[in-house]
Amino acid sequence: MRIILFGPPGCGKGTQATFISDSLAIPHLSTGDMLRSAVGSGSEIGMKAKNIMERGGLVSDEIVLSIVEERIAKNDCENGFILDGFPRTVNQAEKLDLLLSNSHKLDCVLRIKVDEDEIIKRLIDRAREDDKPEIIKNRFKTYNSETQPLIPFYEERKILFNINGMQKIEKVSEDIKKVIGAI
Ligand code: AMP
Repeated sequence: MRIILFGPPGCGKGTQATFISDSLAIPHLSTGDMLRSAVGSGSEIGMKAKNIMERGGLVSDEIVLSIVEERIAKNDCENGFILDGFPRTVNQAEKLDLLLSNSHKLDCVLRIKVDEDEIIKRLIDRAREDDKPEIIKNRFKTYNSETQPLIPFYEERKILFNINGMQKIEKVSEDIKKVIGAI
C-alpha cells in the first residue's frame, strides 16, 4: 500500500506513521527525518537545508524530490510505504505522480485533523529545535499557503480520507485501521 499521511506540524503524523508501518510492514518515510539526518551528517544537501529548516520554511522541491526518488526506489518500498511530511506543495504532489508508475499508484491520503490551538500546545510541549514560538508561526504560515492546497488536489481524486486527530492516540490508530481495511 502507498499511503500519504497528511496534516499540519504536530498533528500526530509521526506517531501514527510508526503504527501503520508496524501493522502493514511497510517503511515509514519522513522527509523531515531524512533532512534532519542530512543536516546532522553535514552533507551538501544538509547544508543547503539547514537555514531554511531553522526558519520553518520549505526546502526546495528539487532537493526533497531527489531524496524521495532515491528512497522509494529501494527494495523495501516494493510493497508500499507511508510518506510523512511529503508532499508539501502541489508541485511535489505532481512530481510524485510521475515517480510512481501506473501499477504503483497512491492508495490513500490520510488527513489528520487537529484544531490549531491544540497543535500549538502540542508543539510547545514537544520543544524540538524548530518548535520555537516564532518558528512555529512560520511553519503554520508555510503550511497554510503551500500545503493546504493539497487537500482539494487529493479530494478531487477521491483518495483523501479525514481522520479526527483530536481523539486519544489509540482511537486515531483504530480509525486509520478502519479506513485502510476498507480500501
Ligand atoms: P517535519 O519533521 O515534517 O515537520 O519537517 C521539518 C522541516 O523539514 C520542515 O519545516 C521543512 O523545513 C523541511 N521539510 C520536510 N519535508 C519537506 C518537504 N516535503 N518539502 C519541503 N521541506 C520539507
